[in-house]
Amino acid sequence: MSCKTISVLTSGGDAPGMNAAIRAVVRSSIANGIRVLGVRRGFNGLINGDIFEMNLRSVSDIIHKGGTVLYTARSPEFRTSEGVQKAAQVCKGLGIDGVIVIGGDGSFRGARALSRRGIPCVGIPGTIDNDVACSEYTIGYDTAMNTAMEMIDKIRDTAQSHDRCSIVEVMGRRCGDIALNTGIAVGATAILVPEVKYDMDRDIIDRIKFTQNIGKKHFIIIVAEGLKNVNKISKEIKRRTGIDSRTTILGHVQRGGSPTLRDRVMASEMGCMAVDMLIKNINNKIIAIKNNKVIYMDISKALSVKKHFDIELYKKALNISI
Ligand code: ATP
Repeated sequence: MSCKTISVLTSGGDAPGMNAAIRAVVRSSIANGIRVLGVRRGFNGLINGDIFEMNLRSVSDIIHKGGTVLYTARSPEFRTSEGVQKAAQVCKGLGIDGVIVIGGDGSFRGARALSRRGIPCVGIPGTIDNDVACSEYTIGYDTAMNTAMEMIDKIRDTAQSHDRCSIVEVMGRRCGDIALNTGIAVGATAILVPEVKYDMDRDIIDRIKFTQNIGKKHFIIIVAEGLKNVNKISKEIKRRTGIDSRTTILGHVQRGGSPTLRDRVMASEMGCMAVDMLIKNINNKIIAIKNNKVIYMDISKALSVKKHFDIELYKKALNISI
């Protein structure tokens, strides 16, 4: 079957660079003579038929913008077989030959459910957490890390002026990649991630005391969001070391902002590749980065991959943050 109409949606949490991916999908579809339909608010838009035709100018002036011009959503209805069925019917009614889903693992489960109803899908990893296991990199991750680093640099200035300890929570519910990399980049004394069980004495208090004894007067502790205990850690540091400790939860600031060059280029490359795959009838795959190369994998296989955490880098971080 030749591919005449493609639709594109963004789903799950938004991520800087999603717009660059949408732009690439739209422009590369049109360059190949394919009609392209934008779906608003993720799978909700597919169910409700909130779908519109896009042209070359629909994606003007968005490559540098965070968020997603297609909006995004979490769709509880799409988790039901009735919801998926409805969406598949809408796709068939509009003559959609393929759906490009930009999002995280949850969104790819949705894409798999849709593909099982006969609608070809291709997934593009877009989520700031870098928690898509099959891919070394997800769109938005680089921007989020750079935003976190810039914010923590500012916090560091004030921690230094007051001889304080700053405990900063960064995003990452189940994935410590943002915490690890920003922790290295800001010279954090301790980095707590969901993948490594921590011990309050060994990993925080003893490290602070040791560095204090060799002249350090201010401290940054990075905690991944999934651990949910920045306030407890702060109180414990104050109680055990006497150092004035403050917490900052960076939160959604990490989701927004202009995407970095890396995110824009990756998103553009992946967007073009997704269209190319649908044209070639390479369906029901997830695009991923492996060994720094853009590849694709079957959705089910991609979803069964276990996320790798770079424990060697984590050990190096501990050795140099002293
Ligand atoms: P992020 O990493 O930013 O949270 P995500 O894509 O993993 O992104 P989820 O909220 O897990 O975000 O999933 C997005 C949407 O995908 C859900 O709201 C739901 O509509 C759909 N989805 C998730 N799991 C399934 C499933 N098993 N079957 C059908 N649809 C699903």
